[in-house]
Amino acid sequence: MTPERRPLVAANWKMNKTNAEAGEFLDEFVPAADELGEVDVVVCPPYTALETVVERARGSRVRVGAQNMHEEDAGAFTGEVSVPMLLELGVEAVILGHSERRQHFAESDAALARKVPRALAAGLVPILCVGETEDEREAEETERKLRQQVQADLAAVDVGQLADVVIAYEPIWAIGTGKTATPDQAQAAIGFVRALVGDRDAGAAQAVRILYGGSVDPSNAAELLGLPDIDGALVGGASLHADRFLAIAAAAGT
Ligand code: PEP
Repeated sequence: MTPERRPLVAANWKMNKTNAEAGEFLDEFVPAADELGEVDVVVCPPYTALETVVERARGSRVRVGAQNMHEEDAGAFTGEVSVPMLLELGVEAVILGHSERRQHFAESDAALARKVPRALAAGLVPILCVGETEDEREAEETERKLRQQVQADLAAVDVGQLADVVIAYEPIWAIGTGKTATPDQAQAAIGFVRALVGDRDAGAAQAVRILYGGSVDPSNAAELLGLPDIDGALVGGASLHADRFLAIAAAAGT
């Protein structure tokens, strides 16, 4: 972490928490989150709880993100949600390209190349997820995979907006498995992602925030978040518990 890059922690609740459960979480989380140091905090509930979370987070440091969006504003796209719909609710960020969407819902780099600039144009902070499978890591293809995803997904982003993207490096083998990347693995991969941004623009590479995601919990957060290129965390399982997510946010805060 360099002083110019403000740390960020984001909660990815995936398909968890009803409206009522989301409200209970926020009632516990918001007052404590306001006591944290310098750290941006984003909570990404399912679509159905977005409005509740925005309402309960109003006036606090907690920002709200969606877990996906469609790049068109409206149309015949059954089951999809558009940028104007998110903006109307007060949503400020959006996770894009999570590995579960890539794996189970055929999210493609071509679609992400449209979604990332669309989010930026609307003032939503895109949290773009990239990462390799276990087989790819074992075959020493991690860098190839990261290069392919970062280059393709950011291809249509103007250089002037590159630093407004948040990138989350999430090794797929570490998501929800309890297996965390070692500090060396995480630092190497994230340093590589930063260098890829640097291939487009050196200033953007220094400014862009890159998170680590994959079984982050209160016991490993301080070590991972203390690494020089890691600017925060995207947190799944541990973010479902207010006390655990607060402990991670506290480890990220300066
Ligand atoms: C995620 O879903 O982005 C994630 C990192 O999950 P977990 O923290 O549960 O591994």
